[in-house]
Amino acid sequence: MKTKEDKDIDKLVFELNETIAPQIDCTSCGNCCKSLLINVTEEEATALSGHLNQSRTDFDNQYLEKGGSMMLMNAIPCSFLTNDKCTVYKHRFAGCREFPAMHLPNFNKRLFTTFMHYGRCPIIYNVVEELKVKTGFR
Ligand code: SF4
Ligand code: SF4
Repeated sequence: MKTKEDKDIDKLVFELNETIAPQIDCTSCGNCCKSLLINVTEEEATALSGHLNQSRTDFDNQYLEKGGSMMLMNAIPCSFLTNDKCTVYKHRFAGCREFPAMHLPNFNKRLFTTFMHYGRCPIIYNVVEELKVKTGFR
């Protein structure tokens, strides 16, 4: 992968993702929600606590881990996952919306995290397997 041009790899990954992602039913998977450490912003915490009719203090105490300027969900699997489904889907965090990031540029710069999730995310798995064929790796 490192011998290829980043923009060429991105183009291939975008195309593969457009074909593969719609064929995967995330609502019957939820593996990312069982393994990701999700970053939470102030705005997201305020919006979700409002949706849950909780004060920010109660929400923060129940769900967040804080360190410096960082806030993370404090549980893996995520506290909002029930029966493999997100119970706060419309209010889920940017990190949840972005994953598995196959639509974002610089795939080649995210190889470590991509391969960390290769065995648990069917979208990543299938994109990478097709990428191996397209790049002549196998
Ligand atoms: S907020 Fe929802 S989408 Fe995000 S990790 Fe939790 S259960 Fe998954
Ligand atoms: S691990 Fe991948 S396929 Fe499974 S829910 Fe998350 S993004 Fe969807």
